[in-house]
Amino acid sequence: MKFSELGLSEKVLKAVEASGYDTPTPIQQQAIPHALQGRDVLGIAQTGTGKTAAFTLPMLSLLERGRARARMPRTLILEPTRELAAQVEEAFGKYGVNHKLSVALLIGGVAFGDQETKIARGADVVIATPGRLLDFTERGGLLLNAIEILVIDEADRMLDMGFIPDIERICKLVPFTRQTLFFSATMPPEITRLADTFLHNPVRVEVARAATTAESITQTLVPSGGGPEEKRSTLRRIIRGAENFKNALIFCNRKRDVQVVYRSLQKHGFSVGALHGDLDQRMRMAALDAFRAGDVQLLVCSDVAARGLDIPDVSHVINYDAPHHAEDYVHRIGRTGRAGKSGQALTIVARADQKAIAEIEKLIVRKIDWQEGAQLPPDDEAEEPPRERLRRGRGAARTRSQRPATVENGERPDQHAERQPESRRHHAERPPRERVAAEAERRSSARAPAFADRAPRRERPRRADDAPVIGLGDHVPDFLLRPVKARPRAAREPIEAEE
Ligand code: AMP
Repeated sequence: MKFSELGLSEKVLKAVEASGYDTPTPIQQQAIPHALQGRDVLGIAQTGTGKTAAFTLPMLSLLERGRARARMPRTLILEPTRELAAQVEEAFGKYGVNHKLSVALLIGGVAFGDQETKIARGADVVIATPGRLLDFTERGGLLLNAIEILVIDEADRMLDMGFIPDIERICKLVPFTRQTLFFSATMPPEITRLADTFLHNPVRVEVARAATTAESITQTLVPSGGGPEEKRSTLRRIIRGAENFKNALIFCNRKRDVQVVYRSLQKHGFSVGALHGDLDQRMRMAALDAFRAGDVQLLVCSDVAARGLDIPDVSHVINYDAPHHAEDYVHRIGRTGRAGKSGQALTIVARADQKAIAEIEKLIVRKIDWQEGAQLPPDDEAEEPPRERLRRGRGAARTRSQRPATVENGERPDQHAERQPESRRHHAERPPRERVAAEAERRSSARAPAFADRAPRRERPRRADDAPVIGLGDHVPDFLLRPVKARPRAAREPIEAEE
């Protein structure tokens, strides 16, 4: 099939040709004709499938009729992270070269000023993260009642980041008669419910399941001792020995480790950048741009910051940590081997990671090969530096209540630390004073640099030893066991009267 058979306008077809694409991808073939007819679309597709163009191209064609009014944009695209929003803005620039459309990017971590000016002048397209968009509507600077097309992109990612209540609020602010284009890589029950509520008789189009890993990616496990120094040395060995190496994304489970690994590689003379949710927007974009442009060869990153990013031509993905959640593995290694190119995915595996690897292999329904001739060292404990072992020993001796809450509730440490509390959630059920405090917190977090990374909504399965502790558990503090002396009535009365 050719692009010219999809029903796109001349201006759009010219831009597509200039982009160098000759054949529409499966999601484009299936979604574009329906989108052009004004139908709602439920697209089940991940990044890398060409889904951005699947909604951008028909939107551009449809936008050729009519014009924007001040404070009343005509189309709205919701993205879970600022980077993804910026990427979609870029796509509008590329495919919309022959259009004179005004595109406003409303994302947190940057000042309101420029965004406000664009909205006030009239925007054809608004690309936004949910929190910043609601800030605009609440300030009264933006009206959503002229929206003709609403795009909800990466809906399952929105769920992970706790954005679903925001999405529901936004859907109620746009006209019922709008056209909705809804994309998600997976369809967990919460997303199905959301789609059922807000889509009208949608066409369902689906390409490749989320749990599939591309054949073009060679996957390898690299054994290592579990101590941080050993893991860093294994990482350096991988980079130095990598075949057909051009550049690499290096994933860590915790943003603290992103920083440590980044500094270590820098110290060892590598060309490296870092990307995690604690960096402000400017630094995140600069790191990403430097990597894309080839100014740095390595980019150390966390899952939250890197998910869904389209970085063409990544030759290697290295998992410094085996991810705790198998789907993250699929998303991480999907950064390489894109657009028909081959890629390498290497995962550093210590003894403690074996369970995570088994989970990944179960999800992708295949065994991952160990690096040739390599095997896990006999015992991690024996290799760990004494100081590290001692620290771990002390940690193990802690009682349940002393352990860090992030581990206690089965949540990934990076998720807990990187994402801000989802203060908007359960908003209506909160008592008024708490609601005011929550609102203040939400507003300040909307301005904080790490705005887009919020608390996860999805409950992770509890570990067997994570049974909830009720009250003080088995422990009764000493003071509660001491006998209580009754006070004379006269001394008690004024207190009772006050109550
Ligand atoms: P996406 O899934 O939207 O993140 O797109 C993944 C990559 O595929 C982007 O770099 C696009 O520029 C590219 N792309 C989109 N459509 C096509 C196409 N029809 N042919 C070749 N590449 C494409």
